[in-house]
Amino acid sequence: MFERILIANRGEIALRVICACKDLGVSTVAVYSEADRHSLHVRFADQAICIGPAKSSLSYLDIPAVISAAEIANVDAIHPGYGFLSENADFAEVCEASGVRFIGPPPDVIRLMGVKDRARAAMRDAGVPTLPGSEGCVGSSEEALELAKQIGYPVILKATAGGGGRGMRIARSPEELPALLVQAQQEAAAAFSCPDVYLEKYIESARHIEFQVLADRYGNVEILGERECTIQRRHQKLIEEAPSPSVGNELRSRIAGALREALRACGYVNAGTVEFIMDGCGNLYFIEVNARVQVEHPVTEFVTGVDVVKSQILIAAGEKLPDILELPIQIRGHSIECRINAEHPVTFAPSPGRITGLNLPGGVGVRVDTAAYAEGVISPYYDSLVAKLIVHGRDRTEAIARMKRALDMFVVEGVHTSIPLHQRILSDPDFVRAEFDTNFVRRFAPQK
Ligand code: ADP
Ligand code: ADP
Ligand code: MG
Repeated sequence: MFERILIANRGEIALRVICACKDLGVSTVAVYSEADRHSLHVRFADQAICIGPAKSSLSYLDIPAVISAAEIANVDAIHPGYGFLSENADFAEVCEASGVRFIGPPPDVIRLMGVKDRARAAMRDAGVPTLPGSEGCVGSSEEALELAKQIGYPVILKATAGGGGRGMRIARSPEELPALLVQAQQEAAAAFSCPDVYLEKYIESARHIEFQVLADRYGNVEILGERECTIQRRHQKLIEEAPSPSVGNELRSRIAGALREALRACGYVNAGTVEFIMDGCGNLYFIEVNARVQVEHPVTEFVTGVDVVKSQILIAAGEKLPDILELPIQIRGHSIECRINAEHPVTFAPSPGRITGLNLPGGVGVRVDTAAYAEGVISPYYDSLVAKLIVHGRDRTEAIARMKRALDMFVVEGVHTSIPLHQRILSDPDFVRAEFDTNFVRRFAPQK
């Protein structure tokens, strides 16, 4: 087992990794930017090292700075969390070359999954259903027009290096396709330093369903059920739940079987999430793999009883899945997560600033993952996530009741938050009936 782990991240996920390390008796090293000097991950780690100024390109994304900190602290392994360097294959390679274990998939697997059109081809070849679309990226607007004509409109243009819901454009007619292709390429180049864009069929009334996976180095792959992440704004998730109200046992086990084969074929190791679009007929189509721990992993933890982050560490340390999990995985009850962001609940404009008052809810079946505290500052430099509020109940009805109660007792003063929006969604009859698609949030907050 590792003696000391460096956490190359900040905020709630850095604290989440510290919790897993404490449970395992592993000591922790935090890294932080100058803006995060007073953050809780700095306070609760055994050691903390400043790696640069507030701007993430000069701190949390600065590979030499992170590696130097790892060398100074003499750690055995690095946990990258999500975002930042978590899906950077070069970083994973540099870690291994420096004699530090990267807690995540092997670099070549991260690289494959990071180029979304290649990941799509690999999964399709391994027997996982995908949507019709381009072979590789689209070279010209002529090519895009020809392909869209074959597939039929609408189509979606997506950055091959994309993430966080950015770099996507939906084209509904040949007239608008060429201009949208240029926009998507420009946004991709600016956001991901790569202008490549691919094209696939756009499902108008879609649900987002994803499967949590754990794989060890010995070819064992376990699927920890699925999550429903359909409640989104701007292609970014707001509310997630497990299990999905729209996935039955037959579909769940069919997809799990296909994924087990496909991930073994790819040489997948450690935690990952395979994301799908569900169409109006209940068919699932692969969209991408997130080769890291995901923001919404706690809903899976509640219903399976598996500690996903601890499992990541144990897998990286060479443990076998049958030795660390109680198999077969059982799904118990229902869990829901609300992402509480510091943003205006209607316009979604970020609302950074000082938290002047804070009450975190508790009680039966409630978990709050956060790095926020009273008088703490939500920095404009980073993600607007303030807290994840997660509940567990016997069934979906009980989980909804607990979420409503917890939202009512969640007080954040000094910044705007998405709490009022969550309250409206949780009381919506269609949400309660689980009748929604990815456009659902538009009825509360018109979006472009
Ligand atoms: P999840 O699927 O875990 O919910 P999100 O899409 O919400 O993931 O992303 C989690 C975090 O990682 C966010 O801060 C998001 O901005 C960031 N992120 C995800 N993918 C990328 C990427 N390719 N490049 C930059 N940031 C990313
Ligand atoms: P990211 O890497 O930014 O997370 P994804 O490929 O996972 O990008 O897509 C993000 C979201 O965009 C999905 O959850 C879904 O809401 C929407 N989306 C992506 N592809 C499609 C599609 N082919 N049809 C309908 N919606 C899609
Ligand atoms: Mg995604």
